[in-house]
Amino acid sequence: MKYQSTRGGVTGISFRETVLMGLADDGGLLVPESVPDVSAELSSWQGKSYSELALEIMSRFITDIPRDDLADLINRSYSTFTHEQVTPLVKVGDDYILELFHGPTLAFKDVALQFLGNVFEYILQDSGAAVNILGATSGDTGSAAIAGVRGKENINIFIMFPEGKTSPLQELQMTSVLDDNVHNIAVNGSFDDCQSLMKTIFSDLDFKSAYQLAAVNSVNWTRVLAQVVYYFSAWYQLRCPVSFDVAVPTGNFGNIFAGYIARQMGLPIRRLILATNANDILCRFFTSGKYERGDVHFTHSPAMDIQVSSNFERYLYYKLDGSAEKVRHFMQQFADTGRAELPFNTENFDDVFLAGAASNEETLATIRSYYDNEGYLPDPHTAVGLAVMKRFRDSEVPLVCLSTAHPAKFEDAIQEALPGVHATHPTLEALRDLPTRKVVVDPTVENIKSEISTRL
Ligand SMILES: *Cc1c(COP(=O)(O)O)cnc(C)c1O
Repeated sequence: MKYQSTRGGVTGISFRETVLMGLADDGGLLVPESVPDVSAELSSWQGKSYSELALEIMSRFITDIPRDDLADLINRSYSTFTHEQVTPLVKVGDDYILELFHGPTLAFKDVALQFLGNVFEYILQDSGAAVNILGATSGDTGSAAIAGVRGKENINIFIMFPEGKTSPLQELQMTSVLDDNVHNIAVNGSFDDCQSLMKTIFSDLDFKSAYQLAAVNSVNWTRVLAQVVYYFSAWYQLRCPVSFDVAVPTGNFGNIFAGYIARQMGLPIRRLILATNANDILCRFFTSGKYERGDVHFTHSPAMDIQVSSNFERYLYYKLDGSAEKVRHFMQQFADTGRAELPFNTENFDDVFLAGAASNEETLATIRSYYDNEGYLPDPHTAVGLAVMKRFRDSEVPLVCLSTAHPAKFEDAIQEALPGVHATHPTLEALRDLPTRKVVVDPTVENIKSEISTRL
């Protein structure tokens, strides 16, 4: 399997090269040259464990790592999860919740980043090279990325986060990791400042190659690929219904895009229900065909407080029939004017996606109602998914909502929804009072570059 850029400037590269490149050198996103159809295999995969399933699916996309080695990478990645099923499906009321938060940092990003960390290490061991991972986080990505690579040979990780703007526990999940290869950079600014610093530094191709910079944010194809697996797992745990609907709380379109790939592979997903918070650019797109930047709103689901969604371009590429030229035109128009429109009649232009946005009030009300009526405590991101999901419930197919984090990670929102109820988790309690390490810098490109160059 070879990979290519959505913008046409990179073609025919291997999976290993794709992992290391992250964002394509032409500014586009890397996608596989084709998506394999596995519908004929589905019935023979029944009864496989999560890791065995992952091996079947990933080996279709990863053809330059021997199967035994890939199996070992997968087994090690999911042995860190505390639930035997890795991503267990739980029946709640009439519907189902797929819990993706049983990894080391209690958010779904572990599913992808435990694997990506091991893949990086493996590729580097083989080639003798080293990489420096640079990432920006509003909370969950940073800790999951750090947990994925801490202590690994030939890898340094630099994570920027907005000083004072991640939750205290999220910060502790990053800064309490004292391995020599982990560097936490608190930036005096916003998450957007961190992201724009990252984009600027990655677009400096000389610096990128001199310091072998690598990316772990959701533009990295490996993350999408690892996430494809749990859609299959959900279907097997449902006992293979004729079809099913999946609701996905989303910000960067990474999680839900993995569902779109699973569907292209032949998994019988009927509808993907896209759920956003007040940052609703994606919801507006799927209801109008217009992609238009809005203001950033701070919500109870901060991991989805995103206006410009980094995986959207991959979807666009498929929707524009794989035309790199049309993708370039759309993205250029969006960069220049803050809005862009699909170049065809957009009335009901996609019958796979249904979309909705949930307000803060609805999010809190949903947490309350699941706790009071079902005895289930969803985190605020999951609550966004559940709030939107119920608008599209019909009795024809099973409905699954992806649960992206353990509620204890977002104790403030839980407190606000349910005064007196304390969401806790032993992993998080163990962090309190641990020694920590971070540097605090002003948001300039020079400051970040010098953190990288002086710490190596
Ligand atoms: C990152 C994150 C999301 C959003 O995932 P996308 O891939 O951006 O769609 C949702 N919930 C939680 C808890 C997250 O950490």
